[in-house]
Amino acid sequence: MFDAAIIGCGITGAALAFELSRYKLKILILEKENDVSQGASKANSGIIHAGYDPMPGTKMAALNVEGARLAEELCQNLDVEYKKCGSLVLAFSAEEEKTLELLYNQGVENGVPELEIIRGEAIRKLEPNVSGKATAALYAPGAAVVIPWDYVLALAETAVQNGAELRLNAEVSAVEKTGGFYKIKCGNKKDEIEEIESRFVLNAAGVNSAEIHNMIAPPNFKITPNRGEYYLLDKAQAKIASRVIFQCPNEKGKGVLVSTTAHGNIIIGPDSSDVSDGENTATSLRGLAYVAETARKSVPSLDFRANIRNFSGVRANPDSGDFIIQEAEGAPGFIDLAGIKSPGLSAAPAIAKLAVSMLEQSGLALIKKENFIYTRRKIRFANLSEKDKQTLVRENPNYGRIICRCETVTEGEILDALRSPIIPRSIDAVKRRCGAGLGRCQGGFCSPRVTELISKELCINPLELEQDRSGSYIFTSETKGGGKDA
Ligand SMILES: Cc1cc2nc3c(=O)[nH]c(=O)nc-3n(C[C@H](O)[C@H](O)[C@H](O)COP(=O)(O)OP(=O)(O)OC[C@H]3O[C@@H](n4cnc5c(N)ncnc54)[C@H](O)[C@@H]3O)c2cc1C
Repeated sequence: MFDAAIIGCGITGAALAFELSRYKLKILILEKENDVSQGASKANSGIIHAGYDPMPGTKMAALNVEGARLAEELCQNLDVEYKKCGSLVLAFSAEEEKTLELLYNQGVENGVPELEIIRGEAIRKLEPNVSGKATAALYAPGAAVVIPWDYVLALAETAVQNGAELRLNAEVSAVEKTGGFYKIKCGNKKDEIEEIESRFVLNAAGVNSAEIHNMIAPPNFKITPNRGEYYLLDKAQAKIASRVIFQCPNEKGKGVLVSTTAHGNIIIGPDSSDVSDGENTATSLRGLAYVAETARKSVPSLDFRANIRNFSGVRANPDSGDFIIQEAEGAPGFIDLAGIKSPGLSAAPAIAKLAVSMLEQSGLALIKKENFIYTRRKIRFANLSEKDKQTLVRENPNYGRIICRCETVTEGEILDALRSPIIPRSIDAVKRRCGAGLGRCQGGFCSPRVTELISKELCINPLELEQDRSGSYIFTSETKGGGKDA
């Protein structure tokens, strides 16, 4: 019997697991995919928003500002790349300048520090490539960017280090209340369905959160999947923007941005279109053309020939317009964390703290662990000084072999990833942990070596190795006469 079972391991589930792992509890995380952070938390803008966007008085407003405050220390302790770069919202007309005033006032009411409206050339002084047609901008120096999947990994890995149990490939298909606890059916294959028992349940299933809620309580909210598409430009374009550059928000959300990433690339997007399938992360000619055209209004000199990847993420848009954080009707101890759309990445640590306090009110005893681990360190060879690189290579020659030349990722770092608390079992899972394949060639050169390393270290037949999600096999058969056992 578990004390708390968390359904879904995006940023919400991971932050919950981390927060709960401070206490003497038996915690289980159930994730339907073969790695954590495979939903919206993998594919978003990576911004820790300052918090002027949500309407004052909403859950989104309070939790965004608090989550952003908590993120800085969390990222520092858990070794997540966090760049406090600041953000600008541009206005191109008198009408839009009124929107900036509104955002400024909302920000002040929400408790966002250091907001300022700047005008004319002061904008170009901060961001020289911003269009001369931008007349004013709301400047929020506190906004930051992170690598979103690494934020999830850091929280989930630390929760695991602190004793939480993570089950991957564990899709929840039924939840039932029996006496004083919940029975949860999970598993991806019909003949491998398990039944798990837990006293408390946290529904952090993103686009599927309404489906999970409806397994245990009368439906009281709807989620509409809404897709946003992106370009990612090569690091050679890094100088084009050193902050997050938004346009004024519209009825569809925060609109198209041009931004630096925590990794030093330039990200451009997203658009917004409702999709029927919450897992539909395709990109489209129409969506990308809209993104490119809209982004050029902010930064006319954008060079899309430097694009190294297109991708999309799917928002879990709630019909309430606000985060749905509630104990499900007639299901004491079953907490929904649903409709966690933007600014969910920013708000996650605060959402987790709120959910834990709801669990406590619902009867979960919280006794702090004395030996809670609140630290995580990764070797990033490329960031070391020459002297430290030499010392490291002398100590362990694996760090002297560069596997990913675009991002300077060594064999040592790939092996570290393969021995990390949540073992990566696909090429992209390794990429998310150490950056091999994230660069200009997108794994064109290093993926054969990464394949060999995964295969050798984890004893996986390369024919069974996946690129990313379950079923994304990369090899069909061996060539040059090598049989399965060759
Ligand atoms: C295009 C886009 C841009 C965004 N930009 C920003 C931004 O810059 N800043 C910001 O703060 N927020 C941003 N957001 C919002 C942010 O990404 C989300 O709020 C956040 O990632 C939601 O996290 P989550 O854990 O709730 O959901 P998810 O990350 O979607 O995680 C849900 C998890 O549940 C799992 N799951 C689903 N069903 C089941 C089941 N039956 N059994 C087991 N597991 C299940 C999924 O596989 C998934 O891993 C953006 C979102 C999008 C889509």
